[in-house]
Amino acid sequence: MIVGGGIVGLATALALLDARPGTTAVVLEKEAEVAAHQTGRNSGVIHAGLYYRPGSMKARACARGRMLLERFCEAHGVPFERCGKLVVATNAAEVPRLDELERRGRANGLTGMKRLEPGELREYEPNAAGVAALHVAETGIVDYREVARAYRRELEARGVAVVTGARATAIARRTGDVVVESTAGAVEARVLVGCAGLASDRVARMAGLDVDVAIVPFRGEYWMLAPERAHLVKNLVYPVPDPAFPFLGVHFTRRIGEARSVEAGPNAVLALKREGYTRTSFDARDAWDVATWPGFWRMAGKHWRAGLGEQWRSVSRAAFARACAALVPAITERDLAPGGAGVRAQAIARSGALVDDFAFAEAERMVHVLNAPSPAATASLAIGEEVASRAAAWL
Ligand SMILES: Cc1cc2nc3c(=O)[nH]c(=O)nc-3n(C[C@H](O)[C@H](O)[C@H](O)COP(=O)(O)OP(=O)(O)OC[C@H]3O[C@@H](n4cnc5c(N)ncnc54)[C@H](O)[C@@H]3O)c2cc1C
Repeated sequence: MIVGGGIVGLATALALLDARPGTTAVVLEKEAEVAAHQTGRNSGVIHAGLYYRPGSMKARACARGRMLLERFCEAHGVPFERCGKLVVATNAAEVPRLDELERRGRANGLTGMKRLEPGELREYEPNAAGVAALHVAETGIVDYREVARAYRRELEARGVAVVTGARATAIARRTGDVVVESTAGAVEARVLVGCAGLASDRVARMAGLDVDVAIVPFRGEYWMLAPERAHLVKNLVYPVPDPAFPFLGVHFTRRIGEARSVEAGPNAVLALKREGYTRTSFDARDAWDVATWPGFWRMAGKHWRAGLGEQWRSVSRAAFARACAALVPAITERDLAPGGAGVRAQAIARSGALVDDFAFAEAERMVHVLNAPSPAATASLAIGEEVASRAAAWL
């Protein structure tokens, strides 16, 4: 049984069926449809695997997951485009970090990277400006909500019940089994897999695990380029990320689809509600959990300057437009219209360390995915394989 009908839970169910054909599985999702949270509110990028520490699970799962995802999309008619992306250094100080990204990309097996001089970068993105750039051919775009729906169709075709409107409310063990009480009734299974995204720490604790991380929610807010200015960005344009910060910095992404649309963002601001998609979203329990987690204050002590910059860009369209103009100088405040938002589930350890890699917690008859931030949508089928192999040991 899997709790959570986001892309990771659905991919895990698919991988379980592959690992153990004939297994009876059920996915419980509290919302009325799958992919209602992180999966359906992300940037839609199929990450190439540029950023991640070589040898890390993120690096391995991104490479394998991308290959499996493209194959799945081809087989199931889900549109995707391998459009490539540009990482742009806007000043000389960023060039050594761009060099490091290139080294990481090579160590992670990318063969489609090309280093560009300022003149060459304009061949890819005529309106971008910088002192150097890296073109990564392997990066692509897809609609992850569509991917998740296709995973669900495939699961249902293979006999798996994906039960929506079913919130897991209590978890107990009985000899040889795990019993989950949910708003749609009780389910008993030999193994429980928790893939609850923004609630992953709570579901693990509900199951009796003593996990030493907490999910801290970071909202990512998007702006849309006005339709008549969308031509300023052809595909994807990213800054060189700050290595001390787990997010990628304000960037541009073309959305897949018939109408041409380009998003700017997401930023990364502390959210006072785990599933809160507006600036005024507030939930007392969620805010309390952040405020009472010692790791949050240790993390904030280290990153307060970057955090304040993000908060400022959240409330000031002019400041956000300046960050955009650093990459594409023609962009002004008038070109930006408010877009959607997503909330990232970032696990933070008690020590204040941002958990960088994908992380799991295990107990008898249970596997919980505790940290599955970006690129977990790209990597979903590979994460699913990893989780399924751990879970299958209990079957
Ligand atoms: C703004 C943003 C941009 C991103 N961009 C990208 C990108 O471009 N490329 C990429 O690869 N990744 C990206 N990511 C990361 C990616 O979206 C996530 O890593 C991925 O979607 C995580 O999937 P998940 O299934 O773990 O979580 P979710 O999609 O959040 O799913 C968890 C599910 O569990 C359900 N749930 C929770 N509690 C319960 C309960 N008690 N009972 C039943 N169900 C429950 C929730 O309703 C939810 O549907 C981005 C994330 C964000 C937020």
